Amino acid sequence: MNNQTRKIVLVGTGFVGMSFAYALLNQNACDELILIDIDKKRAYGEAMDLNHGLAFSGSHMNIRTGEYPDCADADIVAICAGVAQKPGESRIDLLQRNTEVFRSIIGPVMSSGFGGIFLIATNPVDIMTHVTQKISGVDPKRVIGTGTTLDTARLRYMLGNYFSVDPRNIHAYVMGEHGDSEFVPWSQALVGTKSVFAHCEETGGKFCAMDMQKISEDVKNAAQKIIEAKKATYYGIGMSMVRIVRAIFGNENSILTVSARLDGEYGQKDVYAGVPCIVNRNGVREIVELKLTDEELRKMHASCEMLRGVMKDLRIN
Ligand code: NAD
Repeated sequence: MNNQTRKIVLVGTGFVGMSFAYALLNQNACDELILIDIDKKRAYGEAMDLNHGLAFSGSHMNIRTGEYPDCADADIVAICAGVAQKPGESRIDLLQRNTEVFRSIIGPVMSSGFGGIFLIATNPVDIMTHVTQKISGVDPKRVIGTGTTLDTARLRYMLGNYFSVDPRNIHAYVMGEHGDSEFVPWSQALVGTKSVFAHCEETGGKFCAMDMQKISEDVKNAAQKIIEAKKATYYGIGMSMVRIVRAIFGNENSILTVSARLDGEYGQKDVYAGVPCIVNRNGVREIVELKLTDEELRKMHASCEMLRGVMKDLRIN
């Protein structure tokens, strides 16, 4: 990957893809943005709409629609494309259809000579990231899923509200599958540099460790609540994707809970899951292995087993 350029090809210009694009524009996070969608007219309209806001942004981004050969010199290919569940369709059938969608995207991306980083948001994101790595054959360090980045942002926001502390001073993660089996390793959660539990104890009952369980449930159920209210979630994930892009283009070595392929960490191999990783211009520099309690390790194991079980039923080749 060229260290000077900041070119992104975005595949899938639906709600999530365009929230990502809009956040990129507002944060001036890239120089060139190419939009691709199977619905070419939609991608064309989205490119026009974004371009008309350029005059009011601090950005000089070049935004246009494109084709897969445009991936040849892209630094990041972000995939937000997917199909919706049909009535009565099983999760695995939906997954199989999304795998076919990914095959139709990743084949031409690789044929272009693409040598950058894949960033995947399509759900189930850990599985679709694994599928991307398997189909493309790209070094797993350059195939990243959004993982539990958004869930972690939700956790920090909720803990910040609870303790009335700036979420940027809350250091806590959501780990595992982006979904029902995700968990919060509370043994690693800090307010400033103090453990959440010590902070609760010292406040003489004002804050209660028991409330942490409710907060992790609220984080897990947040997406469902938003979907009930407005049918889909997109702003939060769009901002999470930009956060990851900034870590990559800024060579920041930031710790983010992206979906990364485990290679022995937490006793897990050949499975993608949300774990704290150091992210820089080369993708995942390394996975930061936390010292989890036995109970937390058991939860990590259960989450990875669940993901492995789904992968087993999927026809990738
Ligand atoms: P959407 O239906 O609005 O957009 C999907 C887009 O993909 C559409 O524009 C469609 O035309 C396009 N598409 C379909 N097949 C294609 C193909 N073969 N090639 C190119 N484009 C194709 O959906 P959305 O609300 O934007 O959600 C997109 C995905 O993001 C979903 O899988 C959703 O579950 C996921 N999502 C992930 C997170 C997360 O935390 N990772 C959060 C929210 C949503």
